[in-house]
Amino acid sequence: MSTNGSVFDRAKGLFLHYAKPLKLDERHPGTKILERLTTPDKIMAFRLSLQMDDGSVQVFPAYRVQFNDDLGPYKGGLRFHPQVTLEEVKALAFWMYLKTAVVNIPFGGGKGGITVDYKSLSTAEKERLTKKFAIVLANDIGENTDIPAPDVNTGPQEMAWMSHAWRMSTGQYNRAMITGKPLDLGGSLGRTEATGHGCAITMLEAARDAGIDPNGATMVIQGFGNAGRYAAIEMGHQGTKTIVASDSRAAVHNPDGLDVQALIEHKDKTGSVANFPGGKTMDPNGVLTAECDFLVPAALEDCITAEIAPKIQAKIIGEAANGPTTQDAIHILYERGITVIPDVLANSGGVTVSYFEWVQNRQEYYWTREEVIDRMRARLVNAYREIADRAKAEDTSLRQAAYENAIERVVRAALERGAQ
Ligand code: NAD
Repeated sequence: MSTNGSVFDRAKGLFLHYAKPLKLDERHPGTKILERLTTPDKIMAFRLSLQMDDGSVQVFPAYRVQFNDDLGPYKGGLRFHPQVTLEEVKALAFWMYLKTAVVNIPFGGGKGGITVDYKSLSTAEKERLTKKFAIVLANDIGENTDIPAPDVNTGPQEMAWMSHAWRMSTGQYNRAMITGKPLDLGGSLGRTEATGHGCAITMLEAARDAGIDPNGATMVIQGFGNAGRYAAIEMGHQGTKTIVASDSRAAVHNPDGLDVQALIEHKDKTGSVANFPGGKTMDPNGVLTAECDFLVPAALEDCITAEIAPKIQAKIIGEAANGPTTQDAIHILYERGITVIPDVLANSGGVTVSYFEWVQNRQEYYWTREEVIDRMRARLVNAYREIADRAKAEDTSLRQAAYENAIERVVRAALERGAQ
């Protein structure tokens, strides 16, 4: 499998690789089903002009890609980052519709973004830019069409601005048109911790299958941010020790287990895990290959490469990040018998609770945190079991089985709907 081409080309290559055993063209001749599943339904690329606080004007490229809605309205986050490109947004939208299908929630997939150094803007500039983005897209998003959510550099504040701008543009009050909102505006309890918590749920299922007792087991986290820290907390509840944690500036380790709560407080206060008094500094290059039972890449794409994969010592990898393992490395890890819970399953707790937020908004009736977490656990355990059973029956990887499950679900819906 090539590592050349854009991130979207690679995502498509991976999809075609995993779709191959399903022989879709042979089983559904004349439907162009593969083309339909690998081409976005609609691409919106536009310019956003922003008046800066000093009166000058800056212009930023912006995108929303609606990839596939065969199983339900488009769903996917908004990334405001200087490296956002249309190809990246297409790839992320592609993965979204597979992810929603993996956990069997009634959504398709989309993604949006603005190519902007968002962190350098003032709060007022951020608000104007985000609201403008919502106004341009007002007719293309909505609770039954396309439901945005947070992604890199966007959070509850941006969702609140988006929802208010949409309400002013359309004249409608509708909480379910966006998820990841603050609780006051209809957000769901349990959303903040959902991705990391969900990753832990899937790793615990994999540990049970592999005969690994989480109590006393060790874990390494690359990227001690939102997803990483909640995975550490939840695994800690099962007795697993987080012995290494890193971020973009540093890595710390403690063979007896880091005090996760103290590390969170330290990172929130200082902005980094660096200089954490409860651990020793280590070379960040040694994080992924450190000896441990569970490894959680929770930061970057393409960090587990063919060079690193042969040296990994973990028994189970939970891909909290999107696309952390290159295609070559995927094969190496599989040959080495390391269990890899693929991103489309391991980090799907976030979109699952986003779905619950949408459900609660539509009924205007709100669940307790325990209800949210219990329902998420039920969905993820069910998805994990379906995938693990298929992988076992077909003697293949969890990733192959997850893609096959997702693709079959979307294909059934697409063919039932007929040609678009
Ligand atoms: P975040 O910004 O809260 O945390 C990311 C962490 O990674 C930060 O602590 C950052 O310092 C660290 N990091 C960056 N570069 C690093 C490097 N080179 N080495 C080690 N650490 C590094 O982001 P997040 O929301 O936790 O997202 C992390 C990953 O999980 C992303 O790939 C994201 O797409 C994926 N994800 C997140 C969610 C969610 O709900 N938060 C849902 C699905 C997928």
